Amino acid sequence: MARYTGAVCRLCRRYGDKLYLKGDRCLSPKCAFERRPSAPGQQKFARRRRVSDRALQLREKQRARFTYGLMERQFRRYYRDAVRRTGVTGETLLRLLEQRLDNVVYRLGFADSRPQARQIVRHGHIQLNGRVTDIPSCSVKIGDEITWSTKGRQTELFKFMQEGLQAKEVPDWLGIDAATMAGRVVTQPDVAQVGAKFDPAVIVEYYSR
Ligand code: SF4
Repeated sequence: MARYTGAVCRLCRRYGDKLYLKGDRCLSPKCAFERRPSAPGQQKFARRRRVSDRALQLREKQRARFTYGLMERQFRRYYRDAVRRTGVTGETLLRLLEQRLDNVVYRLGFADSRPQARQIVRHGHIQLNGRVTDIPSCSVKIGDEITWSTKGRQTELFKFMQEGLQAKEVPDWLGIDAATMAGRVVTQPDVAQVGAKFDPAVIVEYYSR
């Protein structure tokens, strides 16, 4: 399936929760989900029907997939990887998703949304352990250092993000030095702290059928 290029606010309304894909707008009264939480489409044609368990599982999976901005094939690959590893599959899946470089850039407060973080990485503004890395799916590990590249530091966005960094909350599994805008992976992502908008166990059920 190709990457979704439509209106992202429709996804929040379609899957019934805020996916925070538009940065500051998501926290403002302009948020489309706050104004109209119903599913997109003409309401007069909406039918009341019983939703099957399978449909609920699919919705959960889609919510996770769109939260991290992944294509189906990529997402399924994360699931397969999680199955191969030891531990609870759902939790492992969530950890693998959280350890993506674009997600870490977002979590560190270097971007207002995951789509923006992805773009920052793609444009070569981020260094992983001192080397410019433009692959958003790159997986970070404990001890890795995430910094802005020389090119990234010259952008207006860098200054903007640095000014707003104090107001942002960084999860405990990451460390940040606000003065140098350098982040570090301290430990593995804490599943309880992720605040996922989906249940990974339901996604495991969806794929294991
Ligand atoms: Fe979703 Fe953000 Fe759009 Fe609100 S503003 S509907 S949270 S993408």
